[in-house]
Amino acid sequence: MDRIIKAISEDGFVSISVISSKDISERARVFHNASPVVTAALGRTLSAASIIGSSLKKDGASLTVRIDGGGPAGIILVVSDYEGNVRGYVSNPDADVPKRADGKLNVGGVVGNDGLLSIIKDFGAKEPYTGATALVSGEIAEDFAAYFASSEQVPTACAFGVLVDRDRSVLAAGGYIVQLLPGAPNELIDRVEKNVEVTGAVTDVLKTGGAEALLESIMLGFAPKIIECLNVEYRCTCSRERFLAAVLSLDKSELDDMKTAGEPIEVCCQFCDAKYVFEPAEL
Ligand code: ZN
Repeated sequence: MDRIIKAISEDGFVSISVISSKDISERARVFHNASPVVTAALGRTLSAASIIGSSLKKDGASLTVRIDGGGPAGIILVVSDYEGNVRGYVSNPDADVPKRADGKLNVGGVVGNDGLLSIIKDFGAKEPYTGATALVSGEIAEDFAAYFASSEQVPTACAFGVLVDRDRSVLAAGGYIVQLLPGAPNELIDRVEKNVEVTGAVTDVLKTGGAEALLESIMLGFAPKIIECLNVEYRCTCSRERFLAAVLSLDKSELDDMKTAGEPIEVCCQFCDAKYVFEPAEL
């Protein structure tokens, strides 16, 4: 079971959320039949969205992340509920690019870096909050760090990784977001950065020690207190009613054409395996 662990340093200046998201990433890979590099791009985005979504703290709220970097993968769209359950979609799941010189999957290459990372926080009644920032590298974690720095003015370090096996299945996935709270002494930044450097690749730590080991490694010397643990999963919220409402919101002329054709209308969810069939009479 995937989970998020949230903790805060003893002095209250450093907060961290760590996620293990192997099952979420694997579910996304299987559903989209994604190439290894797209699995990594999608898994990283799902991990980040899950952590940020789980901090919305309002029943029914949701978070949408949209990354449009102009690369072969096309647009990545990920939605999280307020408890960190996520679903995701990518325009071209079978897109592929050669590996980087260091042998790693070239996530920045498949995502591209000519475009925006946009985040929409929807709390229901009020206007949704929207923020966007230019992509830095398309490697996802760097792009989220830039988002936090520019849109929310919070010093943030984050890392996300997805380790894909030879048979394309996900071996390990997850990451962290660590933030300095207002009033934090400058020297704490250096200590966090040192821990980040020593920790290295997040998937190596996750594979052997899980989310706990990753949290301990990043928060070494900060005496972290765990404040919350959440189970999270790949979860779609689609339903027959929602799709019927979407079909009914089409142009009147389109609806009339469908009724005249007299054929059942089949609609497939882009986030999960669900398929809904509507008879012309229902329209
Ligand atoms: Zn669905």
